[in-house]
Amino acid sequence: MEFIPVNEPLLNGNEKKYLCECIDTGWISSEGPFVREFERKMSQTAGRRYGIAVSSGTAALEVAVQALHIGEGDEVIMPAFTIISCAMAVTKAGAVPVFVDSDLYTWNMNTDEIEAKITSRTKAIMLVHLYGLPAQADKILSLAKKYHLKIIEDAAEMHGQTYNGKPCGSLGDISIFSFYPNKHVTTGEGGMVVTDDEELAERCKMIRNLCFKKDARYIHEEISDNYRMTNLQAAVGLAQLERLEEFVERKREMGKYYTEKLKEVEGLMLPVEKTDYADNIYWVYGVVLKENIHADNKKVQKLLQDRGIGCRTFFWCMHEQPAYRNKGMFLGESYPNAEYLARKGFYIPSGMALTKRQMDYVVAEMKDVMKQI
Ligand SMILES: *Cc1c(COP(=O)(O)O)cnc(C)c1O
Repeated sequence: MEFIPVNEPLLNGNEKKYLCECIDTGWISSEGPFVREFERKMSQTAGRRYGIAVSSGTAALEVAVQALHIGEGDEVIMPAFTIISCAMAVTKAGAVPVFVDSDLYTWNMNTDEIEAKITSRTKAIMLVHLYGLPAQADKILSLAKKYHLKIIEDAAEMHGQTYNGKPCGSLGDISIFSFYPNKHVTTGEGGMVVTDDEELAERCKMIRNLCFKKDARYIHEEISDNYRMTNLQAAVGLAQLERLEEFVERKREMGKYYTEKLKEVEGLMLPVEKTDYADNIYWVYGVVLKENIHADNKKVQKLLQDRGIGCRTFFWCMHEQPAYRNKGMFLGESYPNAEYLARKGFYIPSGMALTKRQMDYVVAEMKDVMKQI
């Protein structure tokens, strides 16, 4: 039986050519020219003045938090339902994440619940866009303005996406991207911080590189890490970026095809195709089991896996993470919609290299599995 992986990237553009150039010229470290070029093109794509390439999307969030001087005693508002990179960046800095429940329709943060979470300690809101549909940024941006809060925009899943015509990645004081292989643009591992603020950009560059000082090398006034991206990664990223439009179009077609074929299947909530502010770009194609289905996502995932279909469950909620609970954090907190998505949501094969034939197989098996449970 053929196995259809949950994600397979497409690397048949200039990736090999640019990688060979790295080897031929000897430029493989973060000092190489592809890094600068990738930063320039990616920040331009996001409508920003500065791009600072780093080793992962997680690293980009850590750099962003530190660049904004968020630390001990500060609070950062974010969705309870997201990847742990968001919460970890905040807790590693000694600050406290404050969670907001999800909207069951868009799977993003429920913006109506944010204002009540703002306190005198709140420093920033993490504007996280999930699964291909942007969060309702206008409401979040106006709250940030009203309460003088910073916006850290997590656009890790949003390459090429727009919000009301503005590029995702252009909405935060600082915004970040990830280039993990399941993102629309990949470098294997990698990330980027983008901003329009020159001072913030300089700070990010310093934090990326062990907080080396420009004028006094080997004198360090802050603790950070080595978050640098290699020229090899940037070479792949640049080749990927050349095809961004094509990739977005491809993902939209895949998303529409799946929706067309799955919309009659009982018991499934499908991704929102469009809202008044954006058309979904289907970072991955997620589905959520409806309330009348008694199985959870793990059960369905197992059944599909047995039929050669790679699946992955949705994120697990932040307040339910053992890493935090074991420290006595977030005990007794509850976010019912976020918890529902975490237990009932999963995504099916939707990588860039997926073929129509594979999609048809996934759809047929999915229909059968849903009948069975
Ligand atoms: C992928 C992802 C990240 C983390 O990126 P890595 O490159 O895997 O560290 C952060 N936020 C969101 C929303 C993501 O999807």
